[in-house]
Amino acid sequence: MRKLFVGLSFLFSVFGFSQEKYPQDAFRSPIDIPMVLAGTFGELRSNHFHSGIDIKTQQREGLPIYAVADGSVTRIKVSLWGYGKVLYIAHPNGYTSVYGHLQKFAPKIQEFVKKLQYKKQAYEVEDFPDYAEIKVKKGEIIAYGGNTGGSSGPHLHFEIRSSISEKPTNPLLYGFEVRDATNPTLLKLYGFPLSDDAQINQNKNTTAINFTRQQDGTFLADPVSATGTIGLGFVGYDRQDLAANHNGVYSVQQLVNGKVYTDYDFESFSFGETRYINTLIDYYHYGKYRQRIQRLYKAPGNRLSIYNKLENDGKIEVKEGLSYKVELLIKDYAGNETKAIIPIEGKTEPVKIDKDEEKTENYVIAKKPNNYDLGGAKVYFPANTFYDNFYIDLKKGEDTVTIHNNRVPAHRNFTITFDVSKYSEAEKKQMFIARLDSRLRPSHTSTYKRGNTFTTRTRYLGTYTLAKDTVAPKIRPKNFKEKQWLNNYHYLSLRITDDLSGIDTYSATLNGKWILMEYEPKTNTITYNFDDVILNEKECHLEVTVTDNVGNTNTFTSTFYRK
Ligand SMILES: [Zn+2]
Repeated sequence: MRKLFVGLSFLFSVFGFSQEKYPQDAFRSPIDIPMVLAGTFGELRSNHFHSGIDIKTQQREGLPIYAVADGSVTRIKVSLWGYGKVLYIAHPNGYTSVYGHLQKFAPKIQEFVKKLQYKKQAYEVEDFPDYAEIKVKKGEIIAYGGNTGGSSGPHLHFEIRSSISEKPTNPLLYGFEVRDATNPTLLKLYGFPLSDDAQINQNKNTTAINFTRQQDGTFLADPVSATGTIGLGFVGYDRQDLAANHNGVYSVQQLVNGKVYTDYDFESFSFGETRYINTLIDYYHYGKYRQRIQRLYKAPGNRLSIYNKLENDGKIEVKEGLSYKVELLIKDYAGNETKAIIPIEGKTEPVKIDKDEEKTENYVIAKKPNNYDLGGAKVYFPANTFYDNFYIDLKKGEDTVTIHNNRVPAHRNFTITFDVSKYSEAEKKQMFIARLDSRLRPSHTSTYKRGNTFTTRTRYLGTYTLAKDTVAPKIRPKNFKEKQWLNNYHYLSLRITDDLSGIDTYSATLNGKWILMEYEPKTNTITYNFDDVILNEKECHLEVTVTDNVGNTNTFTSTFYRK
């Protein structure tokens, strides 16, 4: 596939088409240490495919990050979540490089961002500078690596997107060097009986298929007896040479008696389709065991464009008396391949384990809108909230609604509305709708309050409850004390926490003027940099105000000295 594109792009350039597909020498590495990956493109994540590569930064922050080519900064964002501090650089060749989870920006960009933050009086900002307003050169330091946003350790999230379509492409297509001589790992194989008459090894449910490693390195499954329409799936990952991280594989093929039935890879996908990952994986299994089985067939509702070829949607029609040789090929980007052979015999045998499907009184037709009044609470699913029809389990308790369980994915938001007429205005003010996790810990969901109803929009099935937060956030200084001289201090940092609904907003002033405090929710820390403002007074008054998600507010004041 890749070779074909290189050839095509050569033709395109001969005939004057400007955008070369996957130019090989256009981009340098965004770091100056060997590229070791903590995540690959297309890797299976919650509700999305990973849209870039995660480059390890030697477990530390502050590593210089370089512009991969000449270009212009077209988007800058500072966010508490997602990419954290992120830069987008558009290049003349039609590609945009993206650098996420940054600790801070290089001085000229940092200055631009600080100005914006002080103007908007907000830490979280986003701006789209005009083309050529902030130009960068290939190899110029643009930022320092960090751990901001939705990141669980220092690394650089790096993407290459088409500037026009914004479609992310696999950065490894551009010739970056990543040492990888290690074959992908196959952990598990599964069979899925799909038609009503289908069974696998006398079982009408998803069935694990045992396999063993052969001397030549391939895997051979125990012979499977089956009948009807079945599908297969696997659990696996890829590892590169210099790290133990379990990363995603690049391509997957399924051959049935030598014919390609399934072929998909992670060359590119669009953000519009990324949530359909929940149809590629067996979401039931994922909800139950937190392990992602990649299905080798197209399940209902799957609108993914990652397939190069599909025969019969990847499903195998197993006929009595016939045998089938299924080959599964899993490859990483470097071309290392893991192969498994699954022999299937068409055999109708007595069913030992019947389909374990719980029938409830409510059958959801996925294509239609579905509305349920549970008495004191209502649940509304717009059309196409779900990928497939199913028996939904709905339960109403005291101030609690249980919407099935976490083993069914929702593609769209649905709404849950609670009747709160029995509560006083004062109580309603401090109340909100919380989602309970598997350990019954509540987390705040955005709650729209109108008259006697509370409504929340969510994509997660599970248990929701009315909760009440009566305690204001806590604020305490981390690196200074009241009435202290802080002459040699570069930073002021404070710890802010909330017990239940969570922190909604915070702000700080120094001698009555707004100051920027950078917030890191992962460490509950807000930080002020003394370089931001020139202080004329010796005596400084700091005031920090923090508000939780139901409006409980706390204010902390402190006086310190500095000259
Ligand atoms: Zn990432």
